[in-house]
Amino acid sequence: MLAYAVCARSSHIPLVFRSSSLFNIGNCPVMVKTRRSSAISGEDGAEPSSKRIKLDDEAKTDRVTEVQKPLISAKPKRKTGATKKADKSVLPERTTSLWKVGAHVSAAGGVENAVVNAAEIGANAFAIFLKSQRKWTSPDLTSASIQSFKTRMEEYGYSNGAVLPHGSYLINLGNVDDGKRKKSYDCFLDDLKRCEQLGLELYNFHPGSTVGATTTKNSISLIAECINEAHKETKYVTTVLENMASSGAGNVIGCDFSHLADIISAVKDKSRVGVCLDTCHMFAAGYDIRTKEAWDTTLEKFDKQVGLSYLRGMHLNDSKTELNSKRDRHENIGIGHIGLRAFHHIFNDVRVQNIPLILETPSFELPKETWAKEIDVLNRLSGLDLSKGDALSDMEEDIRCAVKDAEKSSGKGKTKVKGTSRKTKKKGRDEDETRDHEDHAH
Ligand SMILES: [Zn+2]
Ligand SMILES: [Zn+2]
Repeated sequence: MLAYAVCARSSHIPLVFRSSSLFNIGNCPVMVKTRRSSAISGEDGAEPSSKRIKLDDEAKTDRVTEVQKPLISAKPKRKTGATKKADKSVLPERTTSLWKVGAHVSAAGGVENAVVNAAEIGANAFAIFLKSQRKWTSPDLTSASIQSFKTRMEEYGYSNGAVLPHGSYLINLGNVDDGKRKKSYDCFLDDLKRCEQLGLELYNFHPGSTVGATTTKNSISLIAECINEAHKETKYVTTVLENMASSGAGNVIGCDFSHLADIISAVKDKSRVGVCLDTCHMFAAGYDIRTKEAWDTTLEKFDKQVGLSYLRGMHLNDSKTELNSKRDRHENIGIGHIGLRAFHHIFNDVRVQNIPLILETPSFELPKETWAKEIDVLNRLSGLDLSKGDALSDMEEDIRCAVKDAEKSSGKGKTKVKGTSRKTKKKGRDEDETRDHEDHAH
């Protein structure tokens, strides 16, 4: 029997936990997993990658690797490649909402497992990596995996448009070096083909970087050229550009809305290009969204420069750093510098309905304790009247408590993350692997 702490404030305990018994240790009741709940609780090792790497070309001294210990040593290990099974009767209830919130879930053991991982946290949308995000080449998707993914999408009620795969971190289509750009392009095209094999409509990626070797203008035209080429080599998938946080030495493309607009204007098939707005990146890049007025102003700016019709998804992350910090540090919803109020604007704004809204917040490898809580809170923001009571701070406290418990259970405190931050191995990196990596564990 496995036990872990669950915050006493967690009034909205997902259904998966409701069959469990509770008893108190100190201030927090402790959840004891019953056999039924552990059957779908991820002891198959399918949680997100155990490594977190920061690979910013402009901050080479700031490379972060977090090597995480297994959460609960008693967890039985699942064989690599095994398809995850789930007991649907104990899945959390999924809210019917026009705001499709989910998280970047693990696809360990096969993309088909991602569907179950999403269902287990009550997600109405999800993101995945289509292959190892830190390797140039990966084995092809097997036909069994593709078939199982499609079957499960139907079985669990996810539409193809609710999935926003995230591109490999290695890709830099803005590199002026022909050989390196070609390597990136091949990796990019391979990702797009995988989307189409899975029947997925969207593909999100980081635009690129000049790596200090060319102008922003030139990088932008190289990126657009690659997108045009890739559109010719694929059938329907939409290439979705992500806005970025950091300009560092000024090399990263996508931290200014104008970069996104310039790429789009050079893309020939406008029906196959879009944008994913990451809230943490926006905020770090200087676009405030904390008040309703600030959110409206930022969105109007985006509409004017890029066009709201191009908005195909969002990444929902709070920020560990302040406005305009130019630093990409994701925080759990409501407990960072952005705050829960900003997400209230989002979950009451019709302009961001029916697109994937993806959490990329720290889960400490306990997605059902962290992301399920965040999803639950975010869904409760829709239609919430802020003039009555102090609902927002109660909800923030709910998340803070869940995150604290998860952090404690996993033994992955923030100090540890910093302590291991300079241990990234050189292996597998190319000198121009310039991606402004997100500070979250996928
Ligand atoms: Zn990203
Ligand atoms: Zn993101």
